[in-house]
Amino acid sequence: MARSDLEHDLRATIRTIPDYPKPGIMFRDITTLLGDARAFRRAVDELVQPWAGMKIDKVAGIEARGFILGGAVAHQVSAGFIPIRKKGKLPHKRVSVAYSLEYGLDEMEMHEDAVVKGERVILVDDLIATGGTAEGAVKLLRQLGADVLAACFVVDLPELGGAEKIRKLGVPVRTLVSFEGH
Ligand code: AMP
Repeated sequence: MARSDLEHDLRATIRTIPDYPKPGIMFRDITTLLGDARAFRRAVDELVQPWAGMKIDKVAGIEARGFILGGAVAHQVSAGFIPIRKKGKLPHKRVSVAYSLEYGLDEMEMHEDAVVKGERVILVDDLIATGGTAEGAVKLLRQLGADVLAACFVVDLPELGGAEKIRKLGVPVRTLVSFEGH
């Protein structure tokens, strides 16, 4: 299927909530995409399409919507799954990194034994805005010696420059649907 058809079809399944969680933010709600069986399946298939057939050891998902997509992608490519979580949620020894969000500051963590040096990892989240979250996740993965093959997102907000920021770290970025603005 042509990429513009794919983008058009997936875009139609994403709901926009203006001024959430604060004024000026157009919240791109993917729960409507997840609830549509065809759209969910296509999004999962397409997210990692350029790396299909390559050896992928792990898929890392960012809490919380990245868990849903990343878990499905991991199953699809027969890889293990790594949860990257907000501070204080993981029970075992952790590595952590501070990061900035489009709407705030936070800290994220990963189990220090979640990745073995040299493992080939794909990062997944629902959306990339400023790229602060994904940058933090790439740093965590690299700190443990992961080879970050790609970062994949259903939604891109290109005006915020996040995808470009991650490409500058030397990580290829795949996104499926772009929206103007914030
Ligand atoms: P950023 O670190 O700025 O790239 O923000 C990305 C993270 O914040 C992702 O985990 C998204 O789920 C969430 N996020 C940021 N902006 C939006 C938005 N406009 N709509 C939905 N989620 C968003």
